Amino acid sequence: MTDTEHTPGHTHTERADACAPAASARTVAEQLAFVLGSVAPLPPVHVELDAARGLVLAEDVLTVTDTPPFDNSAMDGYAVIRADLLGASVSNPITLPVVADLAAGTAENPTLVPGQVARIMTGAPIPDGADAVVPIEDTDQGTELVTITQAPDAAAHVRRAGEDARAGDRVLAAGSVLWPARVAAAASAGTSTVLVHPAPRVAVISTGSELVTPGSPTRRGQIPDSNSFLLAAAVAEAGGIPVRIGAVPDDDDVLRTLLAELAGTVDVIVLSGGVSVGAYDVVKAVLKPLGTVGFGPVKMQPGKPQGFGRWPATGDVPGPLIFALPGNPVSAYVSFEVFVRPAVQALLGQPNLHRETITATVADGWKSPPGRAQYMPVIVTTDTEGTGDRTLWKVRPASRGGSGSHLVAGLAQANGLAIVPEDTSHIRGGDRITVMLTS
Ligand code: AMP
Ligand code: MG
Repeated sequence: MTDTEHTPGHTHTERADACAPAASARTVAEQLAFVLGSVAPLPPVHVELDAARGLVLAEDVLTVTDTPPFDNSAMDGYAVIRADLLGASVSNPITLPVVADLAAGTAENPTLVPGQVARIMTGAPIPDGADAVVPIEDTDQGTELVTITQAPDAAAHVRRAGEDARAGDRVLAAGSVLWPARVAAAASAGTSTVLVHPAPRVAVISTGSELVTPGSPTRRGQIPDSNSFLLAAAVAEAGGIPVRIGAVPDDDDVLRTLLAELAGTVDVIVLSGGVSVGAYDVVKAVLKPLGTVGFGPVKMQPGKPQGFGRWPATGDVPGPLIFALPGNPVSAYVSFEVFVRPAVQALLGQPNLHRETITATVADGWKSPPGRAQYMPVIVTTDTEGTGDRTLWKVRPASRGGSGSHLVAGLAQANGLAIVPEDTSHIRGGDRITVMLTS
């Protein structure tokens, strides 16, 4: 990507680019389409089932054997020949010899002949000759002789071989997300590894000479780096593997060297800070000359200045995707939710790239800048007076300060982002609004 592609028909100086008129800026939808157009699921790899949770299958999983693989008992009880027990009841108990004791895991297969039973535990193979199981509760639990007080139904408590799946059946389809029950389905199909799209490795770097590691003493002018923790946690929550680098100073050479070192080791690099028109905006200074990362403004608030592209390829190997997010924590978070998270989902091959959205009723209104879509951190609640119906969702801004992009404490209370359309400047109590649920 070049800047020319990024804002067609325009050539900008750095400063002119950041101050570009609204006409040359991209809408959120345009920027998102551009990002997603650059992202494909990562090439599939085989992983052990232990590492497969949450990943997306790249091929069907077929059963190796029938599931269950043999007829077995669904109850602790006695394997019987049903014809021996016709008419058995409490008033007509029938006593029979117990010729075997079959625990789960046994390979024994004593053939029952009429008049014989075998004690059997749940999961043990049904012996040849038996055609039903009498639960232990309908017996006197004898071990030599057992008295049975209930006539079993045909095939009672017998789990048939292959009743869950037949050898060769597709138990999981390519594209399925491996949530726990699906990991289990692959395991019971006899598979130890699965072909999946791997989780992307995502480096997270904060830039800013004012940033210190949280917990270190701060002198005047310094603040804790919260963005690298915010974004690393968000990467992990999105299903990626965060590689949190922490903060680097506003020094072009330091950043350039770090990015070059990281390029071969990660799929994505998420930077924050240094993308605006300040004198020390290091990210823009390092990435823009590469010609592969564009810094067109996006018609959104917060998150207007940001960049997206790739680190240059090494030979045939494409460089990692680069997201250059604004430094203000709320801006960084919103930009992550709107652009980075869907890209991580796409790299994972996830069928759903987007967060769930709801329509909610505004409790307390706020203002929105015209010409830009606003993403307002909000507290979403359900109306407890109501029936729990989704139409009764209510929202109010999470910060008393409103949409200020530095209001990280308010952000911590938010469980959604209300999406105000570009052409709306006032949100009033009672308005209906789309909200992206973020937790
Ligand atoms: P910048 O985008 O670099 O101009 O930064 C915008 C604002 O966000 C400044 O007030 C920065 O101090 C603040 N900021 C930038 N990076 C971080 C970070 N990693 N953690 C907390 N605040 C930050
Ligand atoms: Mg900065």
